[in-house]
Amino acid sequence: MEPVKLESLLRQLREVVGERYAFADPYEVRLYQYDASPETALPDIVVIPGTAEEVARVVKLCADAGIPITARSAASSLAGGTVPVERGVVITFARMDQILEIDSDNLRAVVQPGVVNLALSQALKPLGYYYVPDPSSQGACTIGGNVGTNAGGPHTLLYGVTVNHVTGLEVALPSGELVQVGGKKAAEATGYDLAGLLVGSEGTMGIVTRIWVKIQPLPPTQKTLMAVYPDVETASNAVSAIVRTGILPAAIEMMDKLSIQAIEAASHAGYPLDAGAVLLLEVDGIPELAEELGQRMAKVCRENGATEVRVARNEAERQALWKGRKGAFSAMGRLSSDFYVMDGVVPRTKLPDTLARIDAISARTGYRICNVFHAGDGNLHPLVLFDAFKPGQYEAVLRIGDEILKLCADAGGSVTGEHGIGLEKRENIRYVFSDDDLEVMDRIRRVFDPHRLMNPGKVFPSDGLAPSAHETLPGYPRRQAAAIGAGDDLWV
Ligand SMILES: Cc1cc2nc3c(=O)[nH]c(=O)nc-3n(C[C@H](O)[C@H](O)[C@H](O)COP(=O)(O)OP(=O)(O)OC[C@H]3O[C@@H](n4cnc5c(N)ncnc54)[C@H](O)[C@@H]3O)c2cc1C
Repeated sequence: MEPVKLESLLRQLREVVGERYAFADPYEVRLYQYDASPETALPDIVVIPGTAEEVARVVKLCADAGIPITARSAASSLAGGTVPVERGVVITFARMDQILEIDSDNLRAVVQPGVVNLALSQALKPLGYYYVPDPSSQGACTIGGNVGTNAGGPHTLLYGVTVNHVTGLEVALPSGELVQVGGKKAAEATGYDLAGLLVGSEGTMGIVTRIWVKIQPLPPTQKTLMAVYPDVETASNAVSAIVRTGILPAAIEMMDKLSIQAIEAASHAGYPLDAGAVLLLEVDGIPELAEELGQRMAKVCRENGATEVRVARNEAERQALWKGRKGAFSAMGRLSSDFYVMDGVVPRTKLPDTLARIDAISARTGYRICNVFHAGDGNLHPLVLFDAFKPGQYEAVLRIGDEILKLCADAGGSVTGEHGIGLEKRENIRYVFSDDDLEVMDRIRRVFDPHRLMNPGKVFPSDGLAPSAHETLPGYPRRQAAAIGAGDDLWV
């Protein structure tokens, strides 16, 4: 941005949010250049609004000046969703973190975008309720960010992802309007589901300033089982066998041998170190039902190759099992200084074949790949271990990631299950959508954002990025935008 334009915009933004909450100091804005992906890019200005009206005025000022706007909540995006690749203004929601209403009679809550996912369930717990979507990052990520990515989590198998739990949104548009779509509506609302359209739009249509969500009574009982298998293939086949019986557990998670070693070293969850794979399974409901389903599930697990099935005997044991799974990504630090997380989906029945192919990629390339994932949904998270400071390794893992995503798409799946497309997978999106599909999506996006100023450089494939704005973390070579194209030559 030209310095004069930047200064003038900063002055106007400060008139809206106050001197303290809009800044362009090169040192201060460095904190906002990254998220949980390896990509980085510096914003020109960071703004921290305190109200929805302030957000709307900020968005209009930027749009009128033709400046890109990137929404950033807790920045736990693994897809580079918040990295401002075209610079401009980053809007962050640290001051908009209030639960505005809990309406337990209507099973609804209203929150600001900066409310941390887990904080909502913690606030609801004394009242006997909870908010269902539970990404493994739930202690850090926000409901606003979850809306941005349409986040999932272990319990989405039975209960669905974020879009199934959001009934309304208030959104600031580039026109400066603050519009409400949906609200505390009943399930069978009439008209287009615009809230459904905006959930998962990764900040490319508007900025979410208020969210109406469903809440749910806490399940009377949760029965959690750990089933131990000699290998991932047997465990994967057991997943399909369980679903075939007609039991739909609330969660079925899988961890392979390498993941188990990392998790045990970090959190001592009680997973057996000699296992080839473990499944973590959960059913919930009234005690009699949960007990019966738990027993039936344990039987199916044994009949399908489990060498051991352990049932958590109390809440402490249940929490220990979940602590291991939810801390799995961070536990990878025990195995490697760096790892690259993929997020592909395959039909459940394709799990054994896909995992075998991933194993073959690992053997061929020499990079260790851990698998810890939402097995019930077929939502894979292969983690490729590497050392970013060794020349060539980052480029190699990007190629591996690309190969894995192609594998998922070819198996009838998709290139993201929950992390979003963001910056990371904007070229891979071509594996599942044609140019015509993308054109239609872009037209819909431009109804909201005619000049493509909202989170530019994300979701849609592009011919290139402005090289001056796009860097990677120290040790990571820059992703070569000019080389991006369809097919196998995505990354150089
Ligand atoms: C250890 C770890 C485990 C994870 N586990 C899971 C998991 O189990 N399931 C899962 O789905 N994800 C998981 N993630 C990824 C991440 O936590 C989710 O994508 C989450 O939804 C991001 O929330 P956030 O608040 O950090 O949003 P951010 O990262 O800040 O933003 C995410 C996207 O939403 C947009 N956005 C943010 N706020 C707004 C807003 N107010 N209006 C419009 N757009 C907005 C951003 O522009 C960006 O595109 C994990 C990440 C980590 C690091």
